[in-house]
Amino acid sequence: MAGGSFDVIVVGGGPGGYVAALRAAQLGAATAIVEKDRMGGTCLVRGCIPTKALLQSSELYSLAKAGAPFGVVADNIAFDWAAAQKRKTAVVDQLVKGVEGLLKAGGVTMVRGAAKLAGGGAIDVAGERLPAKNIVIATGSAVSSIPLKGAELTIDSDAILELKEIPPRLAVIGGGVVGMEFAAMFAALGSKVTVLEMLPQILPMVETDLVNVYAKHLAGLGGEIHTDSKVDAVVKVRSGLQVRFSTGGEGGAVDADQVLLAVGRSPYTEGLGAEAAGVKLERGRVVVDDHLRTSAQGVWAIGDVIGGIMLAHVASYEGICAVENIAGHARVPDYHAAPNCVYTDPEIAHVGLGEKEAKERGLEIRIGRFPFAASGRALTLGQSEGFVKVVADAGSGRLLGVHIIGPRATDLIAEATLAVQNGLTLEQLDLTIHAHPTLPESLMEAALAAQGRAIHIANRRSPAAAANPAPTPSPIAATLPLHNRERQMVAPVKPTAPPAPAAITAKKLELTKENRDFLLGIHRTMQLIRRFEERAQEQYTKAKIGGYCHLNIGEEATVVGAILPLKLTDYIFTSYREHGHAIARGIDPKAVMAELFGKETGTSHGRGGSMHMFDAKLRFMGGYGIVGGHLPLAAGGAAAIKYRQEKDVVECLFGDGATNIGAFHESLNFSKVFDLPVLWLCVNNRYGMGTPVEKASAVADIYKKACAYDMESIQVDGMNVREVLLRTSEMIEKVRTDSQPRFIEALCYRFKGHSVVDPDKYRSAEDKEKFRKADPIVFFEHELETSGLADEEYFKSVRVEVEAEVQEIIKFADESPDPKVEELYRYAYVGEWEDRPELRGDPL
Ligand code: FAD
Repeated sequence: MAGGSFDVIVVGGGPGGYVAALRAAQLGAATAIVEKDRMGGTCLVRGCIPTKALLQSSELYSLAKAGAPFGVVADNIAFDWAAAQKRKTAVVDQLVKGVEGLLKAGGVTMVRGAAKLAGGGAIDVAGERLPAKNIVIATGSAVSSIPLKGAELTIDSDAILELKEIPPRLAVIGGGVVGMEFAAMFAALGSKVTVLEMLPQILPMVETDLVNVYAKHLAGLGGEIHTDSKVDAVVKVRSGLQVRFSTGGEGGAVDADQVLLAVGRSPYTEGLGAEAAGVKLERGRVVVDDHLRTSAQGVWAIGDVIGGIMLAHVASYEGICAVENIAGHARVPDYHAAPNCVYTDPEIAHVGLGEKEAKERGLEIRIGRFPFAASGRALTLGQSEGFVKVVADAGSGRLLGVHIIGPRATDLIAEATLAVQNGLTLEQLDLTIHAHPTLPESLMEAALAAQGRAIHIANRRSPAAAANPAPTPSPIAATLPLHNRERQMVAPVKPTAPPAPAAITAKKLELTKENRDFLLGIHRTMQLIRRFEERAQEQYTKAKIGGYCHLNIGEEATVVGAILPLKLTDYIFTSYREHGHAIARGIDPKAVMAELFGKETGTSHGRGGSMHMFDAKLRFMGGYGIVGGHLPLAAGGAAAIKYRQEKDVVECLFGDGATNIGAFHESLNFSKVFDLPVLWLCVNNRYGMGTPVEKASAVADIYKKACAYDMESIQVDGMNVREVLLRTSEMIEKVRTDSQPRFIEALCYRFKGHSVVDPDKYRSAEDKEKFRKADPIVFFEHELETSGLADEEYFKSVRVEVEAEVQEIIKFADESPDPKVEELYRYAYVGEWEDRPELRGDPL
């Protein structure tokens, strides 16, 4: 059989187990998978796939019966259950074979038999002991039972899939997903379906307004739903079976030919020897920590067996997380955007928070709804029941949840899931062009409706109110320390020039009316940099920009906060790549983009491209290619200032990677020995290329490196623009006053990785998520909004305005002339060009 020892053995070949095994093999682990039944587990063999195959048959049957208005006329339409079963089996067989093929191709050893944990990093299977460095338990779940009189007369979800004929009368005990999918299937096939649910609502995890639509549809097919109904017994009667139940103390009975007992599933560990091997169980489920480790060394668990969200895609996701953790990553599963689908008719799907749940959490929300009856595509399909409902944060417009009942809801949820997972706002959703006529347009319309701007239905609020909604404090923002919570109308704002550094005080940065124009000016600059960089990235991928292209996305607070406090006579030494620094300094963004395009109108006449940004008038010395190479130049610049006895300051910006090279230490040392007026500013975006700072640097806190030179140094929150502004301003004034170098470390995060071409695989999803949530622009907007200085409409207008400006910038750059080939040496030798004809190139 298998033989040898493995890095990873996965027990259970369901969607959790086989996906984990494939990923482990991809990661280079010697991997085995043990399955006692068929590969594919519950999902492929008796769950997701066979049910959906049969549901497809019942859907086709319903459509065919309703074909006449579409022009499809067929007499004597009948349903062949045996044929449907045959097709279902073929689909299952094909997929099981497919999984086996994938495992084989992936180099995973398949072992048949029931595995038992042997303890000490081994399993026993089919009389053999297999040692493994890591074991992943993925044994899934089994049908739950309840102590019910006559339970032996019922069938479960496994047995109902194998019925030989369609029951004329079907009673379903349990109104969960499995029960409701079978109820929908058999009702469509002509069974008289009765559902008995103990709770006040069937599908308890689905919002009531969606459930009502399904219940109505089922009623239209002759189905009945009894909620608050406790089943007491199933008995045999002359005509078949009878389910006896009580609703609010009153007895009831329903006759049936088959009774489906669908009261849920329980984690399955039978015969696994889990507890004997040190794996802790709690009410049958395997207990795991947030990295999916069990209590036993080297044993992990995923999927239905750990409880929680018992769905196939969640099991697969956990499988990937677990083996990536085994491989040394740090993956903590994030379930906030796990979609949930119910394949009833109409279909139901939801993701994220519901209206009720959000309110229970005390969140202020906006709701938007769009009925499929108003969707062109739904009408062409002849399936216009249902609606899309979006739930968003009232303040920020961030999407919290989406709930759909209607045609292909289970496919529609994909876009919503992406949006919720990535924290998109209603506006980002509605500004995305949706193809027409399609069902996803309904999601866009629901997002518009939440803002009172739906196009294809009447809006609930007046257009005026929709155009200028009152700013609503979001719960997150409400917890921020603010100096001023007054509400006021937001007037159109003209960004103002930055005040002199000495004028940047804590008072000047307070969120008050007096400071509003200045603060909104800062906000606009941050937005301009963000949009500039996003569009620069696009231009790079279109090959309009050559060389390297490093983006400041995510660093706007540090960039703007560090540069605005400088006087125009101060010098900035930064590396070649910082477009945002140039824009914050006031260099015309058109010249910055033109430089990136290598055009004559660029800051360096197109000679530097993405490698050299320079503006003598604004004292912006942005040009030296090697990491940290500009630090000695900054020290030299500061020496020159001192020599001339001027009161200017040099600010030298660099990344954390630059602090690991000799030039960094020499420059700091030199500046301290000669008392040079330089502010060293480390933009610590936590990764030097792909290496986390804590792994690349001798000390995790980079500002401490400056202590070695007896230099005053501080660390600031680089995601908070007001903090960076204030602290930088204070430090610059100290440097100016006593001509002593100082050091700031601004902790921030670059959202786009090291450069445009960086695949950015080294940062974990959690890391990205954590910092994305701390987006400096969103944070600042929250501050401005909750203090009444600006509202969502204003932010939107800035975004629109800035987008238009950046489009102009790109147009300018694109239409600008290229440098003449014979003059490429021009500007490289200051002042010597006209007198040195030998430097000119030959005309091509
Ligand atoms: P499973 O798929 O249960 O796989 C566990 C495997 O482990 C099994 O093959 C079992 O034989 C094997 N095993 C157990 N013990 C041992 C042992 N000791 N040694 C060796 N092998 C062992 N989910 C959805 O997301 N979408 C749906 O549409 C959907 N529909 C469903 C419909 C029905 C009727 C049912 C019952 C479930 C449905 N589910 C659906 C749920 C889904 O099937 C499960 O969530 C999913 O299969 C769980 O995956 P898993 O890998 O954790 O376990």
